[in-house]
Amino acid sequence: MMRPGALGLFVFGMCTLAGWGIPLKKMVSVNFPGDVLKNMTDLELAEGYLKKFGYLNVQERSGFQSIRSNAMALKRMQRQMGLEETGKLDLATVKTMKAPRCGVPDVRNYETFEGNLKWDHHDVTYRVLNYSPDLEASQIDDAFARAFKVWSDVTPLTFKRLYEGTADIMISFGRDEHGDGYPFDGKDGLLAHAFPPGDGIQGDAHFDDDENWTLGKGRVVKTLFGNADGAKCHFPFLFQGTQYSHCTTAGRTDDLPWCATTADYSRDQKYGFCPSELLYTFDGNSNGQPCVFPFVFDGVTYNGCTTEGRSDGYRWCSTTDDYDQDKKYGFCPNRDTAVIGGNSEGEPCQFPFEFLGKQFDSCTAEGRDDGKLWCATTGSYDADKKWGFCSDSGYSLFLVAAHEFGHALGLDHSYVKDALMFPMYSYIENFSLNKDDVEGIQFLYGSKTSPDPTAPGPTPTAPGPTPTTEETDEPDTPTTKPTITTTRPVDPSQDACKIEKFDTITEVDGQLHFFKDGQYWRLSGQTNNGMEGPFSMSERWPALPAVINTAFQDLVTKKMYFFSGTRFWVYTGQSVLGPRSIEKLGLPASVEKVEGSLQRGKGKVLLFSAESFWRMEVKDQKMDTGYPRFTDVIFGGVPNAPHDVFSFRGHMYFCQDRFYWRMTSKRQVDRVGYVKYDILKCSDS
Ligand SMILES: [Zn+2]
Ligand SMILES: [Zn+2]
Repeated sequence: MMRPGALGLFVFGMCTLAGWGIPLKKMVSVNFPGDVLKNMTDLELAEGYLKKFGYLNVQERSGFQSIRSNAMALKRMQRQMGLEETGKLDLATVKTMKAPRCGVPDVRNYETFEGNLKWDHHDVTYRVLNYSPDLEASQIDDAFARAFKVWSDVTPLTFKRLYEGTADIMISFGRDEHGDGYPFDGKDGLLAHAFPPGDGIQGDAHFDDDENWTLGKGRVVKTLFGNADGAKCHFPFLFQGTQYSHCTTAGRTDDLPWCATTADYSRDQKYGFCPSELLYTFDGNSNGQPCVFPFVFDGVTYNGCTTEGRSDGYRWCSTTDDYDQDKKYGFCPNRDTAVIGGNSEGEPCQFPFEFLGKQFDSCTAEGRDDGKLWCATTGSYDADKKWGFCSDSGYSLFLVAAHEFGHALGLDHSYVKDALMFPMYSYIENFSLNKDDVEGIQFLYGSKTSPDPTAPGPTPTAPGPTPTTEETDEPDTPTTKPTITTTRPVDPSQDACKIEKFDTITEVDGQLHFFKDGQYWRLSGQTNNGMEGPFSMSERWPALPAVINTAFQDLVTKKMYFFSGTRFWVYTGQSVLGPRSIEKLGLPASVEKVEGSLQRGKGKVLLFSAESFWRMEVKDQKMDTGYPRFTDVIFGGVPNAPHDVFSFRGHMYFCQDRFYWRMTSKRQVDRVGYVKYDILKCSDS
């Protein structure tokens, strides 16, 4: 129930970007067609970035946001990326915004990337819909299989590849707008994205084919046929007194590019052919047959691969001399000299080429202020404006796929820089999952041997007192068994409905408890209006101060944790430990109070303070790495500084003033209302 008046509390507003300014250096540089990242000003880049990754559109997802400025959006982005939180568009921030990353928003936008938190089955299927021209199909298959193994190694999940029909995870390569409304952006920038688990497009993973997909360390050219057993090209190699640093057609009359697989061809005579459309095609309907040149398409004769007739930019050819008649085609593999991105993806560099009236015999960075090497793919850039970037180390398909499959399994981005689920790309030679990745995926699916864990999100507790389990106590904890104290109401005439704002609300033994100034009420789990109280806090928990800011009951040990100011207490039945300083838990000294707590599965609890929250390992009483995070970044649509947060019957509640925002375990706000009328069922008389 949303009562009129609540909306009026919140101001809608957004500052414009005009206030941002960083001096723009004027350099002699050229606007290259198709170069999305470079042809943007820093302001355009920043606004686009903050919107695309969810930092700026938070209030559009919910009508109940407080003011958000660009400075706040920037601070959130800076915290996510581990930058200094200046709230300004400084150089380090601009640099980070231009760096390669995953396209999945850091702030989940449920209108666009909606999905389930996890798969409801463990035997997940995948299908590879197409291949990139950058790598051989077998290398791509292998990278995907290894990427899935990263996750199946630490969970009970299994991944089975399908060759037809609908799989849970449909994998494809694409460029620019590729059919889902989330276009890629040419070379660098966005590398890939994936959707959280679910039907249809949910769970699918897409890879930007304007990237140079490699195994992480540059183009590796694997030979075919020849006499070297598929060995890699050796660059440079010597042939008839000339050094070659790419495949060549020298010495051949059939135009097939080849390379030596040792440093000196004349000495070792070891060679193989390089990927080219004259050797094979992929996908299509010709079973890998090579291109036939010239071929006729739509009445026009072609002497090379073309992107004509396609909107996805992939280069193809006919595998007979008449496509119009035979309709046989395949896609062209990239030659080792193929450019990346630009407006000629996959076409080989053309040397020499003319640029601003000068001749170039190799790749150049001229005309660019980012130092990236490029070449023209026709003899004259000035005339044809056809260009692309020269091959660099590229991106490891395995690493990017492992990250994306993490999303496809339900993971969000991590704040931990060394985690696989960190949004930025970095190449790691000897990859292994970070603790944060393992905890994240095991939170959803359990470990390899253990049974399925509790459902993610707040776990509803059965009503009624629950006996303490045999879980281990800390050595210094007195082992008194908890007893339900039969306290009598202090003053039955005191009505919870008269309280405008409670100090904290929490679930104890299945019943909601409402704390205020040394007293508490409890709401019977069975009925909706079974309010009992007030009871005296000092009778049941004598060590506590009158005002507590938050409390929670550990799901495993049933111990009660109470927080007041910078101190906390742990009650095991009647025995108490504390007060101790919250700094002991690893919270920074700047935290003045802990105002909310949410249980996350067994053994973890989120602690909220002001606009941030931390995650605590309850057993060790330690904070996990990768925190604090901003509350409204993860829990979009709730007030960004709630004074109380608690969980109850599978929902999360965020309170501000007299109001509460209820959120489902999928983190969607499904209800906003008054604590008094909706939860306490007070009437207004
Ligand atoms: Zn990602
Ligand atoms: Zn996509």
